[in-house]
Amino acid sequence: MLRLTEIRLPLEHRDDELKQALLARLGIAETELLGFTVYRRNYDARKKTAIVFSYTVDVEVQNERDVLDRFPGHSHIRPAPDMRYRFVAHAPEKSFSRPVIVGCGPCGLFAALILAQSGFRPIVLERGKSVRERTEDTFGFWRERKLDPESNVQFGEGGAGTFSDGKLHTQIRDPKHYGRKVLTEFVRAGAPEEILYIGKPHIGTFKLVRVIEQMRREIIALGGEYRFRSRVDDLAIRDGQIQGVILESGEIVHSAHVVLAPGHSARDTFDMLHKRGVHLEAKPFSVGFRIEHPQSLIDRCRLGPHAGNPLLGAADYKLVHHCKNGRSVYSFCMCPGGTVVAAASEPGRLVTNGMSQYSRNERNANAAIVVDMTPDDYPGHPLAGIALQRQLERKAFELGGSNYNAPCQRVGDFLRGKPSTKLGSVIPSYKPGVTPCDLSEALPAYAIEALREAIPAFERSIPGFALEDAVLTGTETRTSSPIRIVRNRENLQSVNVRGLYPAGEGAGYAGGILSSAVDGIQVAEAIAKEIAGTDRIQ
Ligand code: FAD
Repeated sequence: MLRLTEIRLPLEHRDDELKQALLARLGIAETELLGFTVYRRNYDARKKTAIVFSYTVDVEVQNERDVLDRFPGHSHIRPAPDMRYRFVAHAPEKSFSRPVIVGCGPCGLFAALILAQSGFRPIVLERGKSVRERTEDTFGFWRERKLDPESNVQFGEGGAGTFSDGKLHTQIRDPKHYGRKVLTEFVRAGAPEEILYIGKPHIGTFKLVRVIEQMRREIIALGGEYRFRSRVDDLAIRDGQIQGVILESGEIVHSAHVVLAPGHSARDTFDMLHKRGVHLEAKPFSVGFRIEHPQSLIDRCRLGPHAGNPLLGAADYKLVHHCKNGRSVYSFCMCPGGTVVAAASEPGRLVTNGMSQYSRNERNANAAIVVDMTPDDYPGHPLAGIALQRQLERKAFELGGSNYNAPCQRVGDFLRGKPSTKLGSVIPSYKPGVTPCDLSEALPAYAIEALREAIPAFERSIPGFALEDAVLTGTETRTSSPIRIVRNRENLQSVNVRGLYPAGEGAGYAGGILSSAVDGIQVAEAIAKEIAGTDRIQ
């Protein structure tokens, strides 16, 4: 198989033009082309009047070696890499202690899937409810302001990204092509096939719910077990080796291999780990606000005359600005055609995030605009970042009116330092509602100063970004985990508890759906090798 890159075609090209371009690039006759699949399709909008698709295509040809020899050193014609997933070990015949997985977000889900597919019959413990029940609770909170601290945007089957834009791209190094395994499994479970080749794939909320259910069915069919409403409240550790986990009910689930994938919002779990002496440390995270603009403004700016073309979909953006006070402000988790969502998991606190449906056809674009912080901003204790998050979330709750309305402000007012008393042409999408106010009280002064410098700077990349009526909604505090549960690089086990595998976003080893899922695969492989005694297999 050959991989051809940078095949550029006009936006509105005919289907057969791609084939003709492949033949022309390789200089072969149609009869020599045995087949092809699009591996990646991006669009290049640098020249807005002439947006082009850029394809990467895997091509099967007759006499592949001869064809390749005609293009020695060609940077866009190469052998395609072998991206098939290979299991590192299979469950032994002899009995073994079944691995336990704490948390069923993308990380726990993929750890469970790989272990199940290789015969290890994992036990998945999830504090929240199954994804259907959880959907009702989450939408119930958005409608009726009733927060269930165990079943919400953060907690429950599917994890934090279930009600999300479902962006499935990552910038992690992935030499073993684990990301491909993740996307392939999502497609097998019912996700649209296009996620395999679109440059920045996304899946949207409702499709993700069905995918998660289908993957659960497969894991159970392979001998795995799921237990919902099973919060892990303690660890059983003897002589530095994990023996099992202790549930809220007091039941002990024994295992010598525990994947700990609780996500970044399991603050009680982090507390417990700290008390148990599991080594963890503070790490940087970011805080800020969600910003909403009309999606049509972003489309016009990014796509010019092609704004609204269904081949391109709703446009996104990615921005960064380095401020005079040494902080960086960047856009995060941009959701084209989406909504701002209430993402709290603790009563009396307020957190924003963003989501969209597959169609991305809501009227507003939203993104978090966040300021970086380091442990120097919350010194003294490994869990001090959590204390700061809680303080900011409490403040946001109070500014919103202490009824789960989110505090918001027009961008023009925010930049002038004047409280908003009413909203303008951009209608905020946050449910259950918003309260116009002065957001400068919602974050530390250095963060407000940085945001006031960055938003006008972003205007230079996206005219209209500092639109008077654009809306800021607060507060975005859960951009990533404020801690890292430190693990050993080689065997992925905690540095001071053998058999405990901290993983995913909460443990500080991933950020986003795809990278968390990839981390889940890595810890599953580490466990499989450990149990099967095949540590040296690569
Ligand atoms: P999580 O997904 O957080 O899962 C952890 C699970 O562990 C939860 O189900 C929780 O209930 C469970 N748990 C916690 N403590 C315990 C315990 N003690 N016992 C048992 N179970 C426990 N990322 C993207 O890449 N693209 C996006 O478009 C995107 N949009 C997002 C939108 C929203 C609204 C949110 C909140 C997040 C979004 N993210 C997105 C981020 C992404 O969801 C996370 O990076 C990812 O889910 C982290 O995966 P994880 O498995 O490590 O943890």
